[in-house]
Amino acid sequence: MPRLDSEKITLIKGGKIFTGKVKQDLIDGGWIIIKGGEISRVGRGDYRKYTRGQRVSVIDATDKIVTPGLINCHTHLYSALARGLIQASSPRNFVERLETLWWRLDKALTYEDCYWSALVGSLLSLKAGVTTILDHHSSPHAVRESLDAIAGGMRQAGIRGSVCYEVSDRDGQDRALLGIEENVRFATLVAREASPIGCLMGLHASFTLSQPTLLRAREAALENGLGFHIHVAEDNADVVDSQKRYRRRVVTRLADAGILSDRTLAIHCVHVSDQEIRTLNQTGTNVIHCPRSNLSNAVGIAPVAKMFRHGVRVGLGSDGFGASVLDDAYTAILNWRLVEPLPTAGFVESEVLLLYNNQLIAGSILGRPLGLIERGHAADVVIFAYDPPTPINGNNLWDHFLSRELRVETVLVDGKKVLDGGKACLIDEEKVFEHSRQLAIKLWERM
Ligand SMILES: [Zn+2]
Repeated sequence: MPRLDSEKITLIKGGKIFTGKVKQDLIDGGWIIIKGGEISRVGRGDYRKYTRGQRVSVIDATDKIVTPGLINCHTHLYSALARGLIQASSPRNFVERLETLWWRLDKALTYEDCYWSALVGSLLSLKAGVTTILDHHSSPHAVRESLDAIAGGMRQAGIRGSVCYEVSDRDGQDRALLGIEENVRFATLVAREASPIGCLMGLHASFTLSQPTLLRAREAALENGLGFHIHVAEDNADVVDSQKRYRRRVVTRLADAGILSDRTLAIHCVHVSDQEIRTLNQTGTNVIHCPRSNLSNAVGIAPVAKMFRHGVRVGLGSDGFGASVLDDAYTAILNWRLVEPLPTAGFVESEVLLLYNNQLIAGSILGRPLGLIERGHAADVVIFAYDPPTPINGNNLWDHFLSRELRVETVLVDGKKVLDGGKACLIDEEKVFEHSRQLAIKLWERM
């Protein structure tokens, strides 16, 4: 009898494996061995010498496409309860939209809403092939322990990510201080455990942050080793406010306050000058492009092509506009061509944003190699069912991806199956959707 290793390993075999490395690499008929939540080995051909004498759980991926889990570098899970919500008024600009919709919604959120929105939002993300989300949360009337609720929902669904509470003076300085405390409290908590959930110092945006609050948040973040997650120059109103109150543009204000670094997520950056783009590059700041959100909110088109050429690391996020970051990658291309009218513009770059930059950004934020099927990386893997109507290989995989016809079938996070046959493994998804619908009715009534 061979001696059995006590730890069970998982073998995924038979599929077309896209490793996610920069040089597109598709291993046809390959295999992946997962051990202890990590990718242990990847190869093609005979795998038996690596599994001999071990307890093995086998996932047959024959005729399937196997990829690293997708990563969403900016979202708001609480927006999961806003789908179908019809606004009574017609906002005339972005700030009015915030005032009449999002800031009314976030004020009406209870702890229960926070937990269930995170649970259902995480479930929708897994169903879109997303295994890591960097969330940005606000619930001004339920600040304390709201991050436990958000992280609890994420854990229950089985997704990886980071959370933060959106510090803002828009509901008074007391709320802003509570927000800072909440970020520090939760960051301290997760630092003590080996958690798949990390924490950042969340900040809303320059135009709702007074200078004392901004500096206080920076001190708290520095003391606790936290990066920042902040909306930057999303609408021109943010720039106008910063110039009026601080006689400088938004990126310059944040740089002067010590907010920008390679641990910072600067979301949107739609209205940034050439000088600010240089500052973003020099500080190593991660810019997260959310094209569906920008178009939906009519705030303009971010100068992504320019930032990209200047060496700024740009990733992609959904900003709560649905869970599929692949839709954002597709929209990013269309946006790119409005700015640079060339029929190939943005194609390769959109792949870099979603598949390469997002894994670098999330990996550095969460302190763990993610987003590649490579030895030592977290075993976050998606198996897609897809019958390609034309040949598929490493060189044209991205074009197949952009068809958005690949159907998510199985998802593993940390080597554990969290979605199988397109259905959640850790929760009863019908019950989750039903309860979410009930909560949404009550939430909308309270608004
Ligand atoms: Zn956002």
